[in-house]
Amino acid sequence: MSRKLKILLVSAEVHPFAKTGGLADVSGALPPALKRLGHDIRVIMPKYSCPAKAGKEMRNIKVDLDIPGFSQKGALFQSELDDNVPIYLIEQAEHYNRKHIYGESGADYPDNVERFSYFCQAVLKAAKTINFKPDIIHCNDWHTGLIPLYLKTDSWFAQTKTLFSIHNLGYQGNFPRSSLVTTGLDESLFHEEGIEFYGQVSFMKAGLMFSDTLATVSPAYSQEIQTPELGFGMEGILQKRSDHLYGILNGVDYSIWNPETDPLIPANFGSKSLSQKMRCRDDLIRMFSLRLNKKTPILCMITRLSEQKGIDLIMEAQDALNKWDVSLLILGTGEAQYETFFRKWSKERSDRIATALKFDESLGHRILAGSDMLLMPSRYEPCGLTQMYALKYGTVPIVHNIGGLKNSIQEFSNKTGKGNGFKFKSPNKNYFINSLQKALSCFNQTKTWEKLMRNGMAKDNSWEYSAKQYSRLYQKTLRS
Ligand code: ADP
Repeated sequence: MSRKLKILLVSAEVHPFAKTGGLADVSGALPPALKRLGHDIRVIMPKYSCPAKAGKEMRNIKVDLDIPGFSQKGALFQSELDDNVPIYLIEQAEHYNRKHIYGESGADYPDNVERFSYFCQAVLKAAKTINFKPDIIHCNDWHTGLIPLYLKTDSWFAQTKTLFSIHNLGYQGNFPRSSLVTTGLDESLFHEEGIEFYGQVSFMKAGLMFSDTLATVSPAYSQEIQTPELGFGMEGILQKRSDHLYGILNGVDYSIWNPETDPLIPANFGSKSLSQKMRCRDDLIRMFSLRLNKKTPILCMITRLSEQKGIDLIMEAQDALNKWDVSLLILGTGEAQYETFFRKWSKERSDRIATALKFDESLGHRILAGSDMLLMPSRYEPCGLTQMYALKYGTVPIVHNIGGLKNSIQEFSNKTGKGNGFKFKSPNKNYFINSLQKALSCFNQTKTWEKLMRNGMAKDNSWEYSAKQYSRLYQKTLRS
C-alpha cells in the first residue's frame, strides 16, 4: 500500500445498525477490510430508532450539529464496527426517529429531501467538529449526493476528494424544484450542467456531476448504466464521466455468511460435510409445514419485492412451478401487488409454497442454508449479494445474466464440470423456464449436483480483494 489514508465512508444504512439491503452489507463490511489494509477509516450514518437490534453500545460524544435552516440541533453518537472501525451516528429526532429508513407502507417519507439534506450537511459539520479531516469522503447512493457540492463551499475540506458509489441508479432522490430552498444550495446550480434533472432537483445527479471519481458495484453494471436501457436517464452524464467511472465487485463478509460457523442456522456444514445441510433443509420443511418428497428441491428467494427483482417472471412461471416437483420459499417485503400474489399462492399450495412477508435476517440465513437453489431473475442487478452468499451455502443460483450476476455466476457445464450456477440471457419466461429445467435435471444427478455445489462453495469472494481495488481507486482519486 502506498499511503495510509484518512477515509470517511458515508451511508444511509450500515449493517448491523440499520439495513434494508445490500448497501448496508457493503457499508458494514468494506470499512473493516480497509482498516485491515492500514487505512484510518471511519463511517457515518443517521441514527434511526429502528437499529435497536444492533446490540452495540452507542455513546453520546457531546457534539452539537447545528445546521442553518434546520430548527432542531443534532447530536453525535459513536460506536464500533468490526476491527474497531469507529462509526458515528447522527441523531436528530425530528428526521430520523422513525420506524423505517426511507419510508413506510410502500411510500417514501414526504420529508426525505429535508432528512438527507440535513444528513449531508451534518456529516461535514461532524467531521469538522471531531477534527477528522479526510483525504477521501466515500459517498454512497443518492442520500449522500449533495456532499461533494457542500464540500466545495468549505475551505476546511480544500484537500479532501470525493468518491461517489452508485449502488442502485434506480433510486435517485429527485425532488420538486421548490425543494432547492431546503437544500440551502444556490439557485444558480439549477441547470443542466448542475443539479437539475428534468425540472427536478436530483441528489443522484449532484453526486454524479460533482464528485471526483465514480464507482459502481460491479464491472458489468458500470457499462450497463451508460446505456439508455439501464441508465435511468443518467446515461449521458455517465458516458461523459466514463473516464472517471470504475466497477468494483462487492465482496462477502464471511464472518457473517459462512455455513461452517453461522450461529443462525440449525446445523453447520461445509463442502466436506454436505450431509449436515440436510438438517437445515429439514428445519425448513418443519418450519413451513411443507410436504415434500425426499428429492423435491427447495427453491428460494430472499429479496425486496420490487419490479427490479424480476418478480413478474416468477408470476409468469407459476403454472410450471405448480406442475413440477419443486417447493418455493419467499422471504421478502415490498410492493403490495407482489405481496398479495405470494400470500394467495402460498395459501393455495401450502404444501409446497411458503411466504414470509417480512424482513428477518436470521430467517434469511436459515432459508439460504436449507434451500437447494436461489432464484434471482432480476431485471437489473447492480451487484447482488444474495447470490454470492448462496454460493457459500451450497445453494445454487439461477440468475438473469446481468450486472453483478454476470460477473459472479458462471454457467455450469456438465461436460467440463466447471461453473457455479445457471444463467438465462434475457428476462423472458421461456429463457427463465429453460434455465430452471436445466437446473432441475442437473439436480437429479446427485454426484454432478454435489460437484456444482462444491464449485460454488470453493469460490472466494471475500472483501480483501475488493478492498484492495478500492484502496487503489482512492489513490487514483487523490491524484485526479
Ligand atoms: P439489494 O441491495 O438490491 O436489495 P442485494 O442482493 O445486494 O440486493 O442485498 C440484499 C440483502 O438484503 C442481502 O443481505 C439479503 O439477504 C437481504 N434481504 C433482502 N430481503 C430480505 C428479507 N426480507 N429478510 C432478510 N434479509 C433480506
